[in-house]
Amino acid sequence: MAHADTTRVQTVIGDPVSGGAPVPRAKLEEIFADIQSDLRYDHELNGCLNCGICTATCPAAHYYDFSPREIVQLLWTENLEGIYDAMQEKIWACAQCYTCAARCPFGNSPGGLIMLMRETAIKHQMESAKNVLRPFSRVMLKLISTGNQLSPDMINKDHFADWGPNISKVDAPLKLLRKAIPMPTLNTTATAWEVNLKTSVELYTIWEMTGVLKQLEGIDENLFDVITDIMDEKREDWKDFLAEQAEAKND
Ligand code: SF4
Ligand code: SF4
Repeated sequence: MAHADTTRVQTVIGDPVSGGAPVPRAKLEEIFADIQSDLRYDHELNGCLNCGICTATCPAAHYYDFSPREIVQLLWTENLEGIYDAMQEKIWACAQCYTCAARCPFGNSPGGLIMLMRETAIKHQMESAKNVLRPFSRVMLKLISTGNQLSPDMINKDHFADWGPNISKVDAPLKLLRKAIPMPTLNTTATAWEVNLKTSVELYTIWEMTGVLKQLEGIDENLFDVITDIMDEKREDWKDFLAEQAEAKND
């Protein structure tokens, strides 16, 4: 019979109006498999009542066309087209505050699931991920090259001129409060950014082994080049240091 040769399964997803290239179903399956295979997935999705408590308490849902309930339902029902579609814009509206996780009667973590979708968007080099991360290249440069981005002494009017005169209200108390927290190495930019050579080299090994650098190469090649230059230089410095130590021992 004629209908036996046809399938009701949608093989591609595409917007007939935009004329954008359709996405093959195999790609949608690959993306979902990547999200689902993460160790955290089964901890963060236990079922969904579609009750909407997460959306009712979500600050991002208040301001954007975004609903954690909708995202969780897409994952729970394995709606591959909808998941791909949400990864183009909606998932980037989440503030990662995890209010939803605290409230869900099923013990789900919609914010955590969104994090997995974001990581997968980066892994698949989606344009949405590139666009969202582009303004943060300076932050990523500091984070990846030193392991730190912000220290309390940076929260002042010189570093954040755009915060206006009210910055002084948080300036002094923050420095004081931070001193009470037992992480002295993060107290100033001098200590936070001048990372011990051995620690730096170990940090770069972690970025490489965990695939962070490979993902960075996929979303921002220029930044990747700058960071790998810094890494090469520090590794050379480390080798020189070890050689000097060995020489001094032999003398
Ligand atoms: S994720 Fe939880 S809170 Fe949100 S709709 Fe589903 S069951 Fe309700
Ligand atoms: S973690 Fe994201 S989805 Fe959950 S309440 Fe916060 S902003 Fe909303």
